[in-house]
Amino acid sequence: MTSHELLKQYFGYDSFRAGQEELISDILDGQDVLGIMPTGAGKSMCFQIPALMLTGITLVISPLISLMKDQVNALTQAGIGAAFINSSLTEGQISKALFNARNGAYKLIYVAPERLTTYDFITFARSVDISMLTVDEAHCISQWGQDFRPSYAKIPEFIAELPVRPRVSAFTATATPIVKDDIVNQLQLADPTVLVTGFDRDNLFFQVQKPDDKFLALIKFLKAKPDRTGIIYCSTRAAVEETCHRLKHQGFKASRYHAGLPDNERRNNQDDFLYDRVQIMVATNAFGMGIDKSNVSFVVHYNMPMNLEAYYQEAGRAGRDGQPADCVLLYSGQDVHTNLWMIDNPRDVEYPDAETEMVLKERDRKRLKEMTFYCTTTDCLRGYILKYFGERPPHYCGNCANCNTHYETVDVTKDAQMIISCVARMKERYGVIMIIDVLRGSKNEKVLKWGLDRLSTYNISKKSAKQLRDIIDYLILNDGLYKTDDEYPVIKLGARATAILQGEPVVIKIAKDEPPPEKITPKPNKKTATKDKKKEIKDVDQNLFEALKELRLVIATEQKVPAFVILHDSSLADMCEKIPKSIDDLMKVSGIGRVKAERFGGRFLKVIAEYAK
Ligand code: ADP
Ligand code: ZN
Repeated sequence: MTSHELLKQYFGYDSFRAGQEELISDILDGQDVLGIMPTGAGKSMCFQIPALMLTGITLVISPLISLMKDQVNALTQAGIGAAFINSSLTEGQISKALFNARNGAYKLIYVAPERLTTYDFITFARSVDISMLTVDEAHCISQWGQDFRPSYAKIPEFIAELPVRPRVSAFTATATPIVKDDIVNQLQLADPTVLVTGFDRDNLFFQVQKPDDKFLALIKFLKAKPDRTGIIYCSTRAAVEETCHRLKHQGFKASRYHAGLPDNERRNNQDDFLYDRVQIMVATNAFGMGIDKSNVSFVVHYNMPMNLEAYYQEAGRAGRDGQPADCVLLYSGQDVHTNLWMIDNPRDVEYPDAETEMVLKERDRKRLKEMTFYCTTTDCLRGYILKYFGERPPHYCGNCANCNTHYETVDVTKDAQMIISCVARMKERYGVIMIIDVLRGSKNEKVLKWGLDRLSTYNISKKSAKQLRDIIDYLILNDGLYKTDDEYPVIKLGARATAILQGEPVVIKIAKDEPPPEKITPKPNKKTATKDKKKEIKDVDQNLFEALKELRLVIATEQKVPAFVILHDSSLADMCEKIPKSIDDLMKVSGIGRVKAERFGGRFLKVIAEYAK
């Protein structure tokens, strides 16, 4: 069978997505490859299809147990022999899996990197035909990536142990140019094809909010589109606990996940989410690498993450099914300080020497700054992210909060001068709140006690506290002011302060309150190759959709796998659209291959037929 036929037969898809075909054909030619594609782009297909076509076994190195389990489940459901070997299995189960593997039962075997150095596994690997070694989440091999895992460094040694070097294929969603080169070097890829597909995920809507009360903003967001499944990321365990508790108190079906919970609770909570028993997962970044639940329709960041790599990876867990999804970041200035603290006091990181430590921390601070700019820009958010990853996107995407907000440009030079001279008169010794109090003439006890009401800048501004804060934030980010990194940060004069006092103009964009006018610029046409068109779930018959979902849940429970492993929501929606009457019709539905059609097709057809009556 050709790769196209396999795509249809096993996975039920009609066409390849951007990049897939090229990587598959190079792999089949015996090339090493490195595929850099955003989350949800379909990296797995790039090695799973060649794995079916190559004579021997494909070993897939994957960092996480949950990831392996989901992928193996999905392959098994599609009728492909696959297994995983990791610490969740007993010795007996591992021996059995290796025995089956020797007898040709599996085309793909997923292993944790730690396994590669064990005697039993090396012995096994030397005794079978290994056609390909696939390294998933390949950025884990790089110290410059955000999830460095020392056990990945053992991969080249393992390859050297094999009697014949298999072709090596590596995949990741996050690679800046440095990480990309590092992966090629560390894995010792031989003259590889390096393919970077567009990073854009056009079904994701990006938004940054700067609410006074984050929890209220969160509730408002959740209530605006109820009953959706999503993840809320917090930067600390304590914030996870508190947010989850408050959400439950408000009647939301939420669960929590962080590294401080006992293993079994973490596992149960994760399963509750994967199996749709709870809608909302509140978690630290410990949750999610490898969570390829397809129907996550929002990811809210309750705190600003440390860098855009992490942000895009976490936010990218929304909308893997191609449906519209929201990525909302709730920003506050405090987040910058929390992150700076975490950079200076990292958990579970050992630096080889003091110099590396300095370099890496400096790099982290630079990345944090770029993340902060994302939170404060009034330009296209998608454009900002894509530029960060080295693309040259258009200025306007039409599908992010900034593109949909009507901004007005305001000259705030006078206000900036007042603020700067107020900071100077306050001897650079106070924080933002006091500065605003003085400018607005507050009778606050501390203002009076310290005699700040006698300053010439007392009560000279007519702006609201919020407006002043926006201008101060702008000045901090643009070197007019400088905010110290202490526990109680104070505001000092920045490098441009004098120039601004001497008349250098300060112009900022402020959101107008009224709704935006009709979209001005049309959405740019996508240049990417075949995009699978997906019916939006909200547009299909909800009664039939719910009935199909119910059947899917019954089947998933019988098979002991999460519902999305049986079929994605988008496949159910496509059924509602196409109303198939036969197994052949069913195979025209996106995401249904022959094995699935034959295995459960009859039951779905029955529900549809009854409904059609
Ligand atoms: P990644 O590993 O890149 O994050 P996955 O391999 O998990 O992404 O794929 C994301 C989703 O896209 C999966 O549900 C997969 O079945 C689907 N998919 C992959 N390739 C195609 C394709 N050619 N056509 C339609 N859907 C696809
Ligand atoms: Zn935009």
